[in-house]
This record gives sequence, structure tokens and C-alpha cells, in this order.
Amino acid sequence: MLDQSAIDTLRGNEIPPQSNFINGRWRDASGGGIRDVISPIDGAVLTSIADGTADDVDAAVAAARAAFEDGRWSRMAPAQRKKIMHRFADLIEKNALELAVLGVRDNGTEISMALKAEPGSAAGTIRYYAEAIDKVAGEIAPTPDGTLALVHREPVGVVGVIVPWNFPLMIGTWKIAPALAAGNSVVMKPAESASLSLLKLAALAQEAGLPDGVLNVVTGKGSVVGEAIGLHMGVDVLAFTGSGGTGRRLLDYAARSNLKRCYLELGGKSPNVVFADAPDLEFAANVCANGIFRNSGQVCIAGSRLIVERSIHAEFTRRVTEIAETMAIGDPLQADTQIGAVHSEAQLAQNLNFVGIAEAEGATCLTGGKRVREETGGTYMSPAVLDNVTPEATVFQKEVFGPVLTVTPFDTEEEAIRLANATEFGLAGAVWTSNLSTAHRVTKGIRSGLLHVNTYGGSDVTVPMGGMKQSGNGVDKSLHALDKYVDLKTVWMKL
Ligand code: ADP
Repeated sequence: MLDQSAIDTLRGNEIPPQSNFINGRWRDASGGGIRDVISPIDGAVLTSIADGTADDVDAAVAAARAAFEDGRWSRMAPAQRKKIMHRFADLIEKNALELAVLGVRDNGTEISMALKAEPGSAAGTIRYYAEAIDKVAGEIAPTPDGTLALVHREPVGVVGVIVPWNFPLMIGTWKIAPALAAGNSVVMKPAESASLSLLKLAALAQEAGLPDGVLNVVTGKGSVVGEAIGLHMGVDVLAFTGSGGTGRRLLDYAARSNLKRCYLELGGKSPNVVFADAPDLEFAANVCANGIFRNSGQVCIAGSRLIVERSIHAEFTRRVTEIAETMAIGDPLQADTQIGAVHSEAQLAQNLNFVGIAEAEGATCLTGGKRVREETGGTYMSPAVLDNVTPEATVFQKEVFGPVLTVTPFDTEEEAIRLANATEFGLAGAVWTSNLSTAHRVTKGIRSGLLHVNTYGGSDVTVPMGGMKQSGNGVDKSLHALDKYVDLKTVWMKL
């Protein structure tokens, strides 16, 4: 149960102007620049963040490198590192509501989702990788007699982390926790429109005992701070979640600088494939609606395409539409709100534009697709269900990142798989059926990194999360994610 009065108290807290966190100290941007932070809840200015520069990135990378080289973290005893990371997780749990409310004021996600998905998942992720510190080891390879070959797992050095605005704590810790667990130093750039909770996270890391210089945060514009991280010769690995366009730029920066490894978690256009024999159509409709409309669709794995067997097309679409119409759109800091704010005016304009294009291309908008609650000064949108969307339609192909669901009927299993695969993305998806063989064939047939059967949004730090095709490369979460932040070194010995 959420404590509404505690939330109401926290929402009134004044937030002082924020600065960068470099080498354990809070520093203004080198040029003295600041950026206003606008709350999507009501359009009000919340506070300001530092408008970081390439010089700030230089300072942060230098601090991270120095920390890495002198071994204050990279060579600290594993048991001690583990203790600090557990303390870090303890502090996140202790400050969970404060972190969640701060994040919601900044990015607009409804608090019921944010509390679980943000501090809740961040603490769990940090604990998971803390435990890996003294459990994941190198190898001795089975080489011929008279030789010994050791395979060491060594931290790569300095990891650049670039985070989006939808779930800063969750996505940020998916990257910093395994990077730190492996012994690296980190330079992190939050999204310019959602930096506050990650700055607080850095303060908690310091309080937990993470040595200075090991985790640095530089805020500011993607095209300045993000570009400087991408181009920096002192950054060894880049871990990113965001748009495909930025992912492409990061690969270009890597090519133009030191060929740093780039791990990209990009967009999605994930399908829910619903067969007529789905075990419980009401449940399926509920999950499909929640899977695209919660957090105003601002979820990488949002199930944005409904691909439904023609015999239940009308009935199932009606159910989803009815659910969309009853979902509570409102103040994200009210415990019972199901759909909070769209993150920004720009995002809202983009969402509405997609609906307009879809209608012009022949789709029928069954409900929603409008700006609502404009009188609050915030950015809100009613969830849209677009029926009869063809695979050629823009809205079928492009990620909206908003509360917009497309509906496309199918006749055969082969057609369902073909439609599911008919975009450049391959992030997530689901199949709804009572037939085990259908479930296996369809999950096998869909080229996506995360598939569900008769559910959606299954999430646990123990399983990998990453995209196929143009949804990216590499995975967050699970022990596999550690591999992104280590180099393998072979040492041959002749005995
Ligand atoms: P979104 O559309 O979700 O905002 P972006 O890819 O624009 O996705 O943003 C994700 C993160 O990438 C943010 O932290 C943003 O500041 C950063 N970013 C944006 N442009 C660039 C860039 N040119 N170089 C590096 N990082 C960038």
C-alpha cells in the first residue's frame, strides 16, 4: 500500500539547484551553465541541473581513470566491495519513497509503477551484482599436458553510461551495478530531462562508502555531454539505452575515437500475438492494455502492436478499448493513477502526430489519442487504440514511445509470425494461446530478445534483457551482463 500522505509531504520538498558529481565532489559545470528542470506534472520549474561541458567530461574521465589505476576500487578485496554495494542497496531501500517521488516529479511516471520499477528494482539489481563479486571467477582452460592456461576476467577500466528519461534508476543501475561489480569506474550521463534521482543515487553511493572517483555523474545535453563521452579516448566501454538515432551516433563516435565497445539498448515495436484459443481473453486484454498504456507507453518493451486472430479481432479489440477508456489518467503522484504524465511537450506532440499520420494512412482511432488535463499545465494523453493498421503503416513500423496501440488482424500462424517480425525492431513480444505447440513455434519464430507466453512484462534481474535486430546488442541484467564490462585475458604457461 502506498502512503499517500508521505507522498504528499515529499512532493512539496524544495529541490536545490543540482551540480555535477565528479571525484566525490559536487561541482558546477565548467562554464557555469545551468538548465531548468521542468516537471511534466504541471509544467512548473522544479530546480536546475548543471549544463555540463566536454571539460566536465574530461574531469570526470580523469577522476574515473585515476581511481581505476590506483586500485582503490578495482583492486579492493571482493568481500569489501560486496559489503559496500550491499550498503548502497540498503540506502536505496531506506530512501525508496523519496527517490521515487523525486523521479516522478522529474519524469512523470505514475508513482505506483515508479516505486517498484525505480528504487525497488535498483536496489535488487545492486544486490544481485554485489553477490556476483565473489562468485563469478575466471577459468583454467583444458589445455594439453605440460601447459597451464588461465583465463582472467579483468575490468575494462572506465565505463561510460548514458541513460534515458523513462526509468533512470532502473536502467542506470542495470549498467552501473555490473560495471562496478566487475571493478570498473563509471562516468554516467543521465537524460537532461530526468537527472535528479540519479544524482541522489550518486550521493547514496558515496554514503555507502564507494570511493571517490569511482562513480561520476555529468548532467547536460546529449549532444554535448553524451557526445564528449562517446568521443572520449579515455572511455573504454559505452553502455547506452535510448533511441536508434543516438545509438547510431555512438557507433560513429566510437569509430572516430578509440573503437570503444558500444552496447546499445534501443527502441522496440513489440507485438502481442493473440490467438483465439488464448486461455482467458479478459485477462489477456487487461495485460495487453496495461502493457502499452502504463507510464503513457514510455516503456522500451511496451507491447505497442496487437496482432490478433481475425475470428476474435472485433471482440478482443472492443475489450482492450473498454479497458483503455477506464484507466485512470491523472496526477502521477496519486497512488491510484494508472497513467501519469507524458514526459514532455515534445514527446506529447510526437505522440499526437503519430495518431494523425495513422488516421491519414487509413487506421481507425477507436478511442483516445488526445491531449487531456491541459488545465494542469502538465502533459497528458488519453490512450489511443488504432484499428486496422496495415504492416506498411508508419505507426506499425516506427516506435511512438507513447500510449498508442495498433491493431492488426491475422488469419494463420505463419502470417502472425510474419507480422510480428515485420519491423526493424526485435526487443520484446508475447504470444497468447492454450496450445503449447503454437506457443513454442511462435516464440521460436519471433526474432526478439524477450518473449512471453500468456503474460507480458515478466521481469527479473536474473534473466537477460536485450534486443535483436535494430533493437540493439548486448544484454542488461543476469550474469551475462557482467561480460560487457570485463576483458578476457589468457595467460599461457609452460610447466
Ligand atoms: P529519447 O528519444 O528517449 O530521449 P535519446 O537517444 O535522445 O532518446 O536519449 C537517450 C540518452 O542519450 C539521453 O541521456 C540523451 O541525453 C543522450 N543523447 C542524446 N543525443 C546524444 C548524442 N548525440 N550523443 C550522446 N548521447 C546523446
